[in-house]
Amino acid sequence: MRAGFTSIRRTLYCLTRVVIAWILARKNKLLPLRASNMESFVDDVRDANASYAASFTAQESPGRAGQRLLVLTCMDSRIVPHALFGMKEGDMKVIRNAGGQLNPEVLKDIIIASHLLDCDRIVILPHTRCAMASMPLAAMQSCLTEVSGLDFSTFEPRVIEDAYGTLRQDVLTLKQHALIKAGIAIQGGIYNVDDGTIEWVD
Ligand SMILES: [Zn+2]
Repeated sequence: MRAGFTSIRRTLYCLTRVVIAWILARKNKLLPLRASNMESFVDDVRDANASYAASFTAQESPGRAGQRLLVLTCMDSRIVPHALFGMKEGDMKVIRNAGGQLNPEVLKDIIIASHLLDCDRIVILPHTRCAMASMPLAAMQSCLTEVSGLDFSTFEPRVIEDAYGTLRQDVLTLKQHALIKAGIAIQGGIYNVDDGTIEWVD
C-alpha cells in the first residue's frame, strides 16, 4: 500500500514538474521553435543564424582562452556563462554537463586545457535550484521511468545530495590532481539563477 502511494506521489511529482515547465515556457515565450523534427528546427533557426553571421566580428578570436579562464558549469538553460562573467568570444573555455560536476571525462578535458589551452584559472560553477540536486538517485530513476516507460533501474547519474560538499570535493580533487598544471587558480562558486549573483565558496 505504501509502495503504491509512493509511486503515485512520484508520478504526480513528475507530471507537476513537466506541467510547470510548460506553463513557464509559454508565459515567457521560450518555445518559439516548432522543432517537431530536425528539418523544421533547421528552418526555425536559419534566419537567426543568418542574422548572427551578418554581424559576426569574432574572426580574430583566439582558439585558446584569451582571458585564461575555464568554467565548468551546468547545462541549465538559465545559465549564459560568457554573459555572467562579462566575457566575449575567445575569452574563455566552457565545459557543461548535468549539475556542473567533475567526472573522469571532464577531468581529462580540464587537464588538457590547463596545459595546452592557456587555462590558468578554473571555476567550477554549479547553481541554485539545479535538477540534479532536486531528488535522490532512486527518485530520479523512478521519475525517468515514469515519463519514458523505459527501465532506468541501472542508470546511475551522479545526483547532488550536498551542493556545498560536492563543490568543495570537486575543487579539492582538481587541486590535488597530479596531472593538473602546477600553479593554476581553482575556485568554486554557486550561481544563483534567481538574481544572477555568484556565491564564491571556499
Ligand atoms: Zn543544473
